[in-house]
Amino acid sequence: MKKGKLFVFSGPSGTGKGTICRELLKNPDTWLSVSYTTRAPREGEEHGVHYFFVTREEYDRTVEENGFLEHAEIYGNCYGTPKKYALEHMAAGEDVILEIEMQGALQVKAAYPDAVLIFVLPPSLTELRNRIRLRGTETEEQIDLRMKTTLQEIELLEKYDYFLINDDLGEAIETARCIIRSEHCKTAGYAKSLIDRYKEEE
Ligand code: ADP
Ligand code: 5GP
Repeated sequence: MKKGKLFVFSGPSGTGKGTICRELLKNPDTWLSVSYTTRAPREGEEHGVHYFFVTREEYDRTVEENGFLEHAEIYGNCYGTPKKYALEHMAAGEDVILEIEMQGALQVKAAYPDAVLIFVLPPSLTELRNRIRLRGTETEEQIDLRMKTTLQEIELLEKYDYFLINDDLGEAIETARCIIRSEHCKTAGYAKSLIDRYKEEE
């Protein structure tokens, strides 16, 4: 059976990563990793669905046990991708999607060079601010802080395998699907088994 791949989506807050990833999950062979976090749940967030909301002690223990694919501290809170489930889903042939920030994405690439890093960009900074405002999850002060870090984040673009500009949502989703499909057409790691399949037929 073909193994699933690891696709990592990052980009500044409000660019539309969550919206795009939700669409990708409509493919039943795709699984979204749920992270551990030490931050408090926001209204409407559910344990095990949006995050596993854990204590600092549980987070530290998981770090010590090498239980994260990657982990990072962001805006004063800790986040990590549990390793076990992601590896199990990939072994079962599913593509695993991580929606994480850049420090974590680069850790994943260092540990798993086959992971595919995708950077989601906004059409402009003005539009990004509008979208965050419309989403209504941040105060103006928090938006200012997030906008300040946006340019620093975009500087890391070169370290990513792909970018996609989320202007028209439908097009951005289609581009994301094309990237995933193309990655599954790479010969690396599959050439021998494919050749064997044709040879067996003879
Ligand atoms: P992120 O996960 O990157 O923080 P979200 O997926 O929460 O971003 O999107 C931020 C806001 O922008 C949401 O209100 C979402 O509905 C909206 N949005 C996402 N993509 C588009 C798009 N292409 N055009 C207009 N609004 C969008
Ligand atoms: P929020 O607190 O707004 O849900 O997330 C803050 C940032 O943490 C977002 O950029 C989000 O993508 C990122 N994030 C969520 N889970 C993880 C994770 O497991 N690892 C890393 N490195 N970042 C994460």
